[in-house]
Amino acid sequence: MRYGIISDIHSNLEALETVLEFLKSQKVDGYISAGDIVGYGPNPNECVTKIRELYPLWVVVGNHDWAACGLKDITWFNEYAQKSLVWTRQTLTQNNQIYLSELPKIVHHSDFSIVHGSLRDPLSEYLLTPQQYKENLPYLKSQYTFVGHSHVPFIFVPSSTYIFKDSEQVSLAKNEKYIINAGSVGQPRDNNSRASCAIFDSSTKDFKLHRLKYDISKTQEKMYKARLPAFLIERLSWGK
Ligand code: ZN
Repeated sequence: MRYGIISDIHSNLEALETVLEFLKSQKVDGYISAGDIVGYGPNPNECVTKIRELYPLWVVVGNHDWAACGLKDITWFNEYAQKSLVWTRQTLTQNNQIYLSELPKIVHHSDFSIVHGSLRDPLSEYLLTPQQYKENLPYLKSQYTFVGHSHVPFIFVPSSTYIFKDSEQVSLAKNEKYIINAGSVGQPRDNNSRASCAIFDSSTKDFKLHRLKYDISKTQEKMYKARLPAFLIERLSWGK
């Protein structure tokens, strides 16, 4: 089965539409979403609607999703995120808030597991170091664990950490436990402004990361109109 993997969409409709059109053109069999559908960007309802239309879909909640529906205290976030979360909470329909509030923190599937942060701390831990990988090993249930949260595309295996530099294909066929981040659709932070997504083929074990150009200025204009923080608007241009 070929899975289209998306994460950290952050209410960026232009990036999400670009990524979904691409994954559809690649004829994926299903979708994996590793959390943070909303927060930061200008189109929370439209993005939640797009996600709800995907089928089959395996999806987990992210820390921004939780805060946007009132389940997580926003003082945990930095000032820019707090401002965007207040706006997002006011903008999201009740129906979409209920949808987000009912998403699971962890999904275990026969081919993979999904969690936003890490399996030992699903909504908070940013996986960044080999040491953290080792500490999370006892929690891994599947050979493949897909995460989000850091907005940086990477692969952890026991012997090394691999950070993607651009669109690349990697074989995940070794008999090891992998933690994989497919990067961020709507707010990349690896000095690359293009939307990130991936395709994982569970039969060949090939994982391919894709970086796609989208209309950043259109998203930014909507953010200005919504009076979202300038820093959040500008960072989309730099991809960090
Ligand atoms: Zn995020």
